[in-house]
Amino acid sequence: MALHNFDGGYCGVSNVEKNAINLCYITTFEAFKKHKDIAEFQERVLFKNKALKRIFENSSPLFDAPLTISQISFETKTPVENHILMCGDTAGMIHPLCGNGMSMAIRSAQMASLLIVKFFDGDLKTRAALESAYLKAWNEAFKSRLKTGHIVANLFSKNKLAEILIQGLKLFPFLLPLIIKRTHGKMMHVK
Ligand SMILES: Cc1cc2nc3c(=O)[nH]c(=O)nc-3n(C[C@H](O)[C@H](O)[C@H](O)COP(=O)(O)OP(=O)(O)OC[C@H]3O[C@@H](n4cnc5c(N)ncnc54)[C@H](O)[C@@H]3O)c2cc1C
Repeated sequence: MALHNFDGGYCGVSNVEKNAINLCYITTFEAFKKHKDIAEFQERVLFKNKALKRIFENSSPLFDAPLTISQISFETKTPVENHILMCGDTAGMIHPLCGNGMSMAIRSAQMASLLIVKFFDGDLKTRAALESAYLKAWNEAFKSRLKTGHIVANLFSKNKLAEILIQGLKLFPFLLPLIIKRTHGKMMHVK
């Protein structure tokens, strides 16, 4: 597994089944819009990172075209919106740099369903009590993780600073698990 940065974003590379690799990069609209299409963007921007150039030049795509999504918002959202309990990315999205979005989606769905069961069992008497219990549980589990995620992603979006930080982490490797710990939750238990 590797993480490479480039001007305006970063790219993760992971080994998957059958000796294939999964390559996924994220960039800003600002950085991308200066180029005609994906091919040109990759050639002019990503390939400036020699490691990325080497990966692209020594592999062939398994899909006919790259899979893309756009308009992703990392803005702060609210876990309860118009009395609706929001789970997963709808409640708040951790930056992919930190990973763990899928587990947060599963965890928040578990939290909501356990509280909904309590509501129907009469342990939570009112809808307002259900909503405030969910808000409290969600904030305890995710608020500071999202905050750390935003800070880390912001720092790594600045090229020069990212380089300095990566060199710093190489010198003090014990810092990395501490940062990761602040963006990841505890083991989930089935109740
Ligand atoms: C580039 C990128 C890389 C990521 N990498 C990782 C990673 O390595 N590890 C990790 O854990 N997480 C990663 N994440 C985050 C992770 O994908 C999400 O946090 C997670 O999928 C959230 O799950 P969800 O169920 O909330 O939403 P989603 O998985 O987005 O599911 C929502 C579903 O609802 C559907 N939908 C939307 N609107 C409607 C509608 N009106 N009617 C019916 N259906 C609708 C959508 O099509 C979608 O299938 C990444 C995200 C991005 C963008």
